[in-house]
Amino acid sequence: MKKILIITILLTFINLLAMTQNNYIFKELPYSYDALEPYIDATTMETHYDKHHRAYYNNFVKGMEDGKYEKLPILEIFAKISQYPDVIRNMGGGYWNHEFFWESMTSEKTSVSNDLLKEIEKSFGTFDNFKNEFSKAANSVFGSGWAWLILNEKNELKITKTSNQDNPYMDVVSEKGTPLLAIDVWEHAYYLKHKNKRADYVQDFWNVVNWDAVSKRYENAIK
Ligand code: MN
Repeated sequence: MKKILIITILLTFINLLAMTQNNYIFKELPYSYDALEPYIDATTMETHYDKHHRAYYNNFVKGMEDGKYEKLPILEIFAKISQYPDVIRNMGGGYWNHEFFWESMTSEKTSVSNDLLKEIEKSFGTFDNFKNEFSKAANSVFGSGWAWLILNEKNELKITKTSNQDNPYMDVVSEKGTPLLAIDVWEHAYYLKHKNKRADYVQDFWNVVNWDAVSKRYENAIK
């Protein structure tokens, strides 16, 4: 009995030590690789999560260690990302954006909350028009990047685009705010299934958006 207690205390201590060593967690994918089939195929999911996302995470952690930076919460780093080298901007963005992207999708049936729906209709006329505008933004990102639905500092909904792995929390982007929804339009997100047809991938994306998560983000952001 005593032995078990000592081992438990020791393990807790090791755990705490590990947490102070590295504040940044590589989260599990919230669903299986094939959960979003046929819209997003299992091979793309596996490569995207286990190769691309993991590499961003590993390189971000390494970049933070190499630069001996204080291990601040990542959103605090984004708020002053202009003071960091490109490796932190690119890898930190890649790490956080993908986690946000996975959590923006689901195989479950979800629905947009009344509050968010009302706000979308106020800002974009109709829900369908919002989807069209968002798709247009996603399809028109030149090269690699992301399209976002954000709530800006004036509590307005905006559709924005960022290049590479930038995101709306970063002090370097022109339109800042709290992200509510994101789509990754790097070719690695769709090329295996949709080839060069980004618009088809964007169309498929609407079938797997987690509106419960997006609505919850809106609720938290508006407070
Ligand atoms: Mn990606």
